[in-house]
Amino acid sequence: METILELEDYKVYYKTLSGYVRAVDGVSFTIKKGEIVGLIGESGCGKSTLIMSLVIRKPPMIVMGGKARLKSIDLVNISEKERRRILLTKISIIPQYALDALPTIKKIKTFLKDIAKDKGVPEEEVLEKFIERARIIGLPSEVVNMYPIELSGGMRQRVVITLATIFSPDLLIADEPTSALDVTTQRHVLELLAELRDTGIIGSLIFVTHDIASVRQIADKIIVMYAGKVVEIGETEDIVTDPKHPYTRKLIEAVPKLGINYKKKRLSGLPGSPPSLLNPPPGCRFHPRCPLVMATCKTREPPLKPLNGTRLVACWLYDQSKGEQS
Ligand code: SF4
Repeated sequence: METILELEDYKVYYKTLSGYVRAVDGVSFTIKKGEIVGLIGESGCGKSTLIMSLVIRKPPMIVMGGKARLKSIDLVNISEKERRRILLTKISIIPQYALDALPTIKKIKTFLKDIAKDKGVPEEEVLEKFIERARIIGLPSEVVNMYPIELSGGMRQRVVITLATIFSPDLLIADEPTSALDVTTQRHVLELLAELRDTGIIGSLIFVTHDIASVRQIADKIIVMYAGKVVEIGETEDIVTDPKHPYTRKLIEAVPKLGINYKKKRLSGLPGSPPSLLNPPPGCRFHPRCPLVMATCKTREPPLKPLNGTRLVACWLYDQSKGEQS
């Protein structure tokens, strides 16, 4: 299968007065054509920095090294002019808080005019594409003459999705696309995203979320991030039903389940909080919170290694060269 996105030892830092915040620190993975990939982890784990760095790069964000390729396009060394050119056409994003992404004082057709001008495409062509795509997405064509404030949350989300996919990008990134929606609308948006992939309107999808229930519904593969690192990658059902990394296990255990009375049984949580990425812990970055920590974990960083089949895990528990239990 064709590779759409390839990251290798990719590093994105923020420059601050106190030093570099190592938000994404040596991340490697690939996404194939047609894959829906869930990117999960606690707030501050680097997932939003990672995806934003692929689309828009603004100071104080700095790509410190590694490779990032979108098909044949080098996303690390790309010029700003080229980056603007490929935005929407090759790579596109549904931003976090997408419901607020449309200024209320502009009609939808004004957004379309702006896109046409930016891309150097005739306005009529963009309007035609929008109406055709809106029909597939389940929006009436009349929305082009409406203001965002006249639309429900679900319709506004559909407008944002329509705008983001108007030029059928190879890669669509959806950053927490369902977090502000009610449960019914969430389901519709998830179905819609899967349909966009199934119909070939988009090549592949990265679905960024901390909502494991949502990601389980549509993702083929899950990538788990902790403190700027990828700690586990695997097929969705394998990760959800048999998580290997201690952090992934804690994330899955923390999901509330139907039928359990949490007044009587406490929800299993993750003690402590993620480390500062200005000065992350040595060795395994999860070691201060890990219930299975060993002596070696405190000094040696575990590499992301194949475990079995399609699973990759960064943990000394699964490595023969591990040290002794502390
Ligand atoms: Fe826990 Fe050690 Fe594995 Fe890190 S490497 S997750 S500290 S057991």
